[in-house]
Amino acid sequence: MAIERRAASPRDGDHIHSKMGEGMKKYHGHCHCGAVQFELDSELNLPMQCDCSYCTRRATIFQMEPITNFQLLKGRDEMTRYGSKEISDHFFCKTCGISTFTYLKDKGAVVGAVVNLACLDGTDTARMKPMMVDGKNL
Ligand SMILES: [Zn+2]
Repeated sequence: MAIERRAASPRDGDHIHSKMGEGMKKYHGHCHCGAVQFELDSELNLPMQCDCSYCTRRATIFQMEPITNFQLLKGRDEMTRYGSKEISDHFFCKTCGISTFTYLKDKGAVVGAVVNLACLDGTDTARMKPMMVDGKNL
């Protein structure tokens, strides 16, 4: 999956994008018990939901960001993971079970983070209008 930095409209879903704009903020995120802590630089301008078999069950609103916008602060050993291991690692807390983020990979290298926006302090996912990703047909 291509991740690049460029200007784009908030509804342009063809690319994952990041630009240092006025809306870019640093968010602190964590699982429910606090074992997993991270920071995310994001404009939160492209919330998404996906209808693949995994996301449907997980039922989260997420945003994709380049890995340079994501920093795991705490809890590397407190998480377990699930996924293809080729293209994605879905991480969740061993203690509280919250799905916090997914690493997107390209040829084995982590290139992006897909972050559960409900884990970020100061966000209200109930008021977000996520774009639907046609994951079951990808
Ligand atoms: Zn936890």
